[in-house]
Amino acid sequence: MYLQIQRIALPATDAQVKDKRNFMKIFNTLSKRKEEFVPIEEGKVRMYVCGPTVYNLIHIGNARPMIFFDTVRRYFEYRGYDVNYVSNFTDVDDKIINKAIEEGVDASVISTRYINECKKDMEAMNVLSATKNPLATEEIGGMEEMISTLIDNGHAYVAKDGTVYFRVKSFDGYGKLSHKNIDELQSGFREIKVTGEDGKEDSNDFVLWKPKKDGEPYWDSPWSKGRPGWHIECSVMSKKYLGDQIDIHGGGEDLIFPHHENEIAQSESASGKSFANYWMHNAFLNIDNKKMSKSLGNFFTVRDISEKYDLQVLRFFMLSAHYRSPLNFSAELMEASKNSLERILTGVENLKDVQKKNNSSPITDAELSNLEMAKVLKDKFVAAMDDDFNTADAISAIFELIKLSNTSLNENSTTEYANGLLNIIEPLCDVLGIITERKTEILDSEIEDLIEQRTQARKNKDFALADKIRNDLLDRGIVLEDTREGVKWKRS
Ligand code: AMP
Ligand code: ZN
Repeated sequence: MYLQIQRIALPATDAQVKDKRNFMKIFNTLSKRKEEFVPIEEGKVRMYVCGPTVYNLIHIGNARPMIFFDTVRRYFEYRGYDVNYVSNFTDVDDKIINKAIEEGVDASVISTRYINECKKDMEAMNVLSATKNPLATEEIGGMEEMISTLIDNGHAYVAKDGTVYFRVKSFDGYGKLSHKNIDELQSGFREIKVTGEDGKEDSNDFVLWKPKKDGEPYWDSPWSKGRPGWHIECSVMSKKYLGDQIDIHGGGEDLIFPHHENEIAQSESASGKSFANYWMHNAFLNIDNKKMSKSLGNFFTVRDISEKYDLQVLRFFMLSAHYRSPLNFSAELMEASKNSLERILTGVENLKDVQKKNNSSPITDAELSNLEMAKVLKDKFVAAMDDDFNTADAISAIFELIKLSNTSLNENSTTEYANGLLNIIEPLCDVLGIITERKTEILDSEIEDLIEQRTQARKNKDFALADKIRNDLLDRGIVLEDTREGVKWKRS
């Protein structure tokens, strides 16, 4: 709010937009207030976001942090920062192991499959590739090293059965992120129950390493053949790829406690330095006002949504609310997002039509004054994003730009004017990850409908229509195959 007022009174120039100092504010879970963003290293952002556990297709709740933090990264880049963005895949976990047992395959088969599927979903949501997506199973050496350091400096201990625990009472800052009093703490709900619970000195202590059970993947270690606890992987990967101290650590708000609290305890006890300067957490994506989650069974996968909508619509829907506000998923909101996105795409298309007409007459005074207005709206977008990434207000600014464009274009509009507006609108859409080029890609549901129409045509002996549908689909990159089990299709 403060920033918005300041910037409206004194609209930023392009030079100020590029001047990264003094303007960006981030709500920090650690201090529970908005703070000015000051990077550790001038012009650079080191950012770590906890990624998914890969035992299934991701659901749209998991997509919220992916889309939001991708937008944060894009905005920092827009402001001229060099962003080092690291996000892990948790590829060793009870749920992965259980699924592997169910299917009678190695756990790596499950994790590899769902990492690949997750990457496809991310691409379709226009989430940029991270600088690095480390896998827990490839970082075991680093985890053993950090655990050894923690044992050596008295922050961890080995129980009789070879389980290693972090000694919570040894770390003064425990509870500073979740704002919990250590004496009131219960063991975290995501803590994995392990053999050796009895070997704990204190019920708050959490697992760093645990001995294997039959049939589980395991690694040798000085303490037992076993595997790491969940929390240690993020401390280690963050240290390895970003250094002991990072600017931003992000994830969904369910990770504040115990996961992020434990990460702080591990990282700070190992390095003796403060770990992350800004802790950012997105609120939940809900359904009927309850958190969407696999365990409650009230979820849609990103793949489910892709059958009905272009995933750009899902992205737009996610960004239509502030990331710290809960967002309730509904068909109505998705339809509204689809229509809003459509308005933006049509607005951009209209500008491109004017561009194509190549009207090289000099830009008019009215157009010049509209471009000035457009710059003020761009500043409004920047002010909204500077104010703790208020994507909802940023989207409003884009709508105002589209409205300005739609109401001002006519058959005499100059190419210079269209270029001027496009040069403002398109980079802002790109910050939000909105692709302004209309996709001709065909949706799964549309393909199924056309296959059904072709089947009907063949039943009616209308082979010309059946062939036409097949050829039209082929032109759009869809290959049909008639098999005994029915028609199968694939994207060529
Ligand atoms: P998980 O695979 O459960 O560790 O989750 C991966 C990421 O998705 C974490 O940052 C979670 O906080 C986040 N997440 C899971 N469910 C939701 C939800 N319903 N709404 C928002 N974020 C979620
Ligand atoms: Zn993590």
